[in-house]
Amino acid sequence: EVVIFWFRRDLRLEDNVALYHALQSERPVIPLFIFDTDILNSLPKNDARVGFIHESLQKINAKINAIGCSLLIKKGRTAEVWKTLFEEYTISAVFLNKDYEPYAIKRDSVIETLAKDNNASFFSFKDQVIFEELEITKSDGLPYTIYTPYKNKWLEKYKAMAPLQEYITLNYLFNFCKSNFDFPTLQQIGFEANSIKVLPHNLTQITNYHQTRDFPAADSTSYLSPHLRFGTVSIRKLVNWAVRKNDVFLSELIWREFFMQILFSFPKVVTHNFKSAYDGIQWRNNEEDFKRWCTGTTGYPMVDAGMRQLNETGYMHNRVRMVTASFLCKHLLISWQWGEAYFAEKLLDYDLSANVGNWQWAAGTGCDAAPYFRVFNPDIQLKKFDEKGIYIRQWIPEFDLGYGEPMVDHAFARDRAIAVYKAGILK
Ligand code: FAD
Repeated sequence: EVVIFWFRRDLRLEDNVALYHALQSERPVIPLFIFDTDILNSLPKNDARVGFIHESLQKINAKINAIGCSLLIKKGRTAEVWKTLFEEYTISAVFLNKDYEPYAIKRDSVIETLAKDNNASFFSFKDQVIFEELEITKSDGLPYTIYTPYKNKWLEKYKAMAPLQEYITLNYLFNFCKSNFDFPTLQQIGFEANSIKVLPHNLTQITNYHQTRDFPAADSTSYLSPHLRFGTVSIRKLVNWAVRKNDVFLSELIWREFFMQILFSFPKVVTHNFKSAYDGIQWRNNEEDFKRWCTGTTGYPMVDAGMRQLNETGYMHNRVRMVTASFLCKHLLISWQWGEAYFAEKLLDYDLSANVGNWQWAAGTGCDAAPYFRVFNPDIQLKKFDEKGIYIRQWIPEFDLGYGEPMVDHAFARDRAIAVYKAGILK
């Protein structure tokens, strides 16, 4: 008899809630990861995120090899993989950490039913966030849709609870099954290595985060986003640390949870405007314009530098994400869904809730979004946040040779956007 711990967005051994509980069961634990073909089939063969996941799993595998055990790695459609597992092993329980995305919720409920049909218990835990689902609600029990009151309630609740404990797994790792599974290469999974790598994370400058975070050349944000996405860092450790070091950095971690609970309570935001009054906006959706935006050739240096950074590294600084997203929706009148999909394909830290939430914020269609008549001027943003042009020269080497004409005049585009939004918003 064994229990299975299923790794998903929690690719670490330390401070992992479901893993802790699986090990506490004092039965042999098989640590499992499934490369889900329903997800993989839509990705390019050299997707950098698959490489990152593979690398993170290798690190875990190397650590548990030291106690004579290894990860069980499967590839296939999740439900089918589980059906085979139930045939191969006598599984008494399944342990996993919750995932709040609509696809994952459906997938997990299928596995829960399968477990019950096979007389196995099914245990799921909160691990990815400090507060989940409907833990932070208004007094009438409804979810918050405005960030500031959500954040205030979050902080109030956080301060009122006992200090977050670390889930020590180290002492119990010997409960892992001693079987030796083969660890597949990336090629065996059907993927190739990609030269794009996750940037080294950095917490040394976070004490000045509130002053420096908006300047893309300052290299002063944490670069933790892919790690938070795939769970290679623990949110509890990070929040405990942020509470002592920097309130503004902590607020960003709260934004992450804000958008997660929005996605959980309003799953329609994945494809539809949060504010349905905005459904009547007549987007231009011009393919040629979209191509220029994607390739970083709009003639606006801040926009182009951002898109080139994204294309080359899988990362873009937050301030520049705001400028490029606003430019696509407002200057080019291309619907946020196009931009969201492009970011989803390129970002190493791509996270459905944060991506959709921030895109809808930029388009003005989301909860607590920027008002539609606020149209960033990309040149003023450049002056404010990269005055010496250090960031843009890094991504546009030809900048000093005289940069091309903007593809659309700012004043014209601003007036057009306001007019189109005004006409499209239902009263
Ligand atoms: P830091 O400034 O060091 O922040 C620390 C952590 O806080 C981040 O790693 C992230 O987990 C969280 N965070 C920070 N800002 C936000 C925010 N605005 N919303 C939600 N969480 C936040 N972030 C993603 O993780 N995945 C995405 O797919 C994503 N798409 C975005 C799309 C657009 C159009 C915009 C404007 C922002 C998007 N963000 C996304 C938010 C933000 O830009 C990144 O989290 C941040 O730039 C990552 O760099 P960092 O880890 O150095 O951030």
